[in-house]
Amino acid sequence: MPTPHESCPTSSHRENCAALNMSDPLAAKHQPIEFAQRFIPAARPRLPDADAVLPYLRRIDAARSYSNFGPLLTEFESRLAGRFEAGSKVVTCVNGTQALTLTLNALDLAKGSLVAVPSYTFVATAHAVIAAGLTPLFLDVDPNDWMLRPETVRDALAWAPAPVSAVVVVAAFGAMPDLEAWKALREDTGLPVVLDAAAAFDQARVAEIPTVISLHATKVLGIGEGGFLATTDAELAARVRQLTTFGFRGSRLSDIAATNAKLSEYASAVGLAALDSWETDRLQFLRAAQMMKVAMTFLPDVQFQPGWGDGWVTSVCSVGLPNGSVDAVEYRLQDQDIHTRRWWDRGCHLNPAFAEYPRGDLSVTETLSRSVLGLPFAIDMDGDDISRVAAALSLALSGR
Ligand SMILES: *Cc1c(COP(=O)(O)O)cnc(C)c1O
Repeated sequence: MPTPHESCPTSSHRENCAALNMSDPLAAKHQPIEFAQRFIPAARPRLPDADAVLPYLRRIDAARSYSNFGPLLTEFESRLAGRFEAGSKVVTCVNGTQALTLTLNALDLAKGSLVAVPSYTFVATAHAVIAAGLTPLFLDVDPNDWMLRPETVRDALAWAPAPVSAVVVVAAFGAMPDLEAWKALREDTGLPVVLDAAAAFDQARVAEIPTVISLHATKVLGIGEGGFLATTDAELAARVRQLTTFGFRGSRLSDIAATNAKLSEYASAVGLAALDSWETDRLQFLRAAQMMKVAMTFLPDVQFQPGWGDGWVTSVCSVGLPNGSVDAVEYRLQDQDIHTRRWWDRGCHLNPAFAEYPRGDLSVTETLSRSVLGLPFAIDMDGDDISRVAAALSLALSGR
């Protein structure tokens, strides 16, 4: 039954709500909760279904090639490479963390040297640096876009306790950093820059800065576990490839110490099916994001990432809330069976695993840890759930 939108704050809000067939979020807040409401999870990934994958599985049956760069993987990589500028190479990997580790390995940096990373990222960024035999140097991020800035790295070069040999920039939840500024830093300082664009499958379309993307189930293009490096540097791509396959390079001779991080034909089958539906999935993500934004227009305290759901899509909805409110808001939403997630928690530097590593001033990161919250979000989240989240968030923010 369509809800009358009497309490929508403006007529355009009312029209938008009605157009999206959403119930009235403000009205919901005045209705008593009569029975247990449906639990709303923080994330609800949706990967290609069995029917979509089946034609690719049949191709595996026919070819009897199951791994080691079979026809499906070759096709998957070339379709991925087609998303980047001409001449870009793609190297798939078992997951994004391995792709990042092996890319850092391939750069042949001085053992133990410092790699500048933002503390405000998923722990995988720092784990990859350490796994590559390097030392993370945790730096602060910009309060507006939540990403490392080149100036922060330039400053750090002056006070860092040891030589800095590279930078890993992180695309915050799928937003793109200023790539031109990072290329300028690379030119000025000679430092290699790697982009951890794990969540930025949608936005990452150039590969002049080596770019690592995750294909984990929770990311916007999910295959379960997987990841890839995109780069215009053919030599770097070849070295990373060699590292994923026992150090082999065209023969069975192991030239360098390496590992096995190859993606199988089965994972590639899911990847091809995911690419087949990407354009429509992307529109569905955009639609869900638009509904979130419409539902929250009456909540000026909720700040979306710049361009989120307009220019670009991602699989999570991390919003900025008033500083210090996150604990209480999270608790109150939980009380309504609405789950949230602090995707990057309080920053890497507070994890016991990284306690011993050097760091700069992290005051913005500490503020973000008290103000950023991942609201429930999913590709097919419906208007009713979105309205419930908006109503509950409104109550939580008003402290009632
Ligand atoms: C998800 C993520 C990773 C790790 O990717 P996996 O494929 O899960 O290994 C690394 N960095 C960031 C910023 C991420 O969001």
